[in-house]
Amino acid sequence: MSTRVRSAAPLAWGMPHPLLDLPLVSAGELVALEDRAATLIGTQSDTLVLGAEASLPLEAVTASLGGPGLEWLNIVTSPYGHVFADLLGGHGTVVHNVVTPNDRPVRIEEISAALAEHPQVTALAIVHAESLTGVVNPLSDACALAREHGLLTVVDAVASAGAEPIDVDSLGIDVCVIGPQKGWGGPPGASVISISETAWRLITANPNGARGSLLSLADIKERWIDTGRARVMGTPPPLELAALGAAFSRLEDEGIENVVERHRTAATAARAGLQALGLRLWVGNERDACAVATPVRLPAGIDSARVLMRVREQARLELTPGTGDLAGLAVRIDHMGARACLPFVMAAITGLGVALGELGARVDISAAADAVAAAYATSST
Ligand SMILES: *Cc1c(COP(=O)(O)O)cnc(C)c1O
Repeated sequence: MSTRVRSAAPLAWGMPHPLLDLPLVSAGELVALEDRAATLIGTQSDTLVLGAEASLPLEAVTASLGGPGLEWLNIVTSPYGHVFADLLGGHGTVVHNVVTPNDRPVRIEEISAALAEHPQVTALAIVHAESLTGVVNPLSDACALAREHGLLTVVDAVASAGAEPIDVDSLGIDVCVIGPQKGWGGPPGASVISISETAWRLITANPNGARGSLLSLADIKERWIDTGRARVMGTPPPLELAALGAAFSRLEDEGIENVVERHRTAATAARAGLQALGLRLWVGNERDACAVATPVRLPAGIDSARVLMRVREQARLELTPGTGDLAGLAVRIDHMGARACLPFVMAAITGLGVALGELGARVDISAAADAVAAAYATSST
């Protein structure tokens, strides 16, 4: 049996459809989006808006800046670091990974030690906030160290932008990649990448850099940046970019510092609530925890899938299963974007508490609700 998705009203050819018959994105519109993105992340560097998920600019970095004969230091604090290492390696770069346990950020001494061991390294790649493990890496110290060693810095800020303070120019980040669908509360299917003068120089001088490819940043420079951003390359998706503009308006109206503060409050409240329930946080040390998502360990003998199903049925909301090393051991509260607010955090914590109680765990739901409320009472968001 086939199911057909039907719109509420029958479609008539000749009538503009609000989702289909959109004008193509103009150069002026794209320039405006890029300039707004640059302001949100605090950079004067060229900032590109792409009509593709953030994995594309991440791979474009590896294809445009890496290659045989080059050595990079790559910090691995979650599966995203491994993916990035594979992409770099696939384009011929020699990758030295610094792999940490999955419940804490990298330590600066670990980066220093790796640099001492591999003095030929020319670039440092690091993820800012780890949405899968709830960890935040020490970005400003890592960038300062990279500057001391004259390294190119590549930051995966896909999840962190909007949830953690990020000021690309004051940190001295050369390449910063962002996905709007996490801390920015925007649409998936678009992304942002900022590229410093230094990074552009390396891109254009890279004999093995991608050319004639969607992964070629050099092509984008030649055809978009160097021609004064006068003619759009390809066909950027109007729906995603319209949604990106709406996300930017929401961020600008609230003020990016307030957005970051709102995420911080949500994380603090989630941590307090989970601990008051009687659970153990995946990231024990508050200083190490990011404001994007909070994973929590499940009590022994509790089935993760059943917990999530009960929360879905009863509280009518989605918690996220632990992925990678956390599969089966933890569930996650993704308090990012529009979910970084009291009603979501309260419903998530109490919903989790009710589900765990039903499944036989000992939890204190009213203490948890009090702890969430108290965290919000002492904050301004
Ligand atoms: C979500 C995420 C990605 C992947 O972004 P997509 O938009 O799904 O391609 C990469 N890195 C980090 C840290 C993320 O959180």
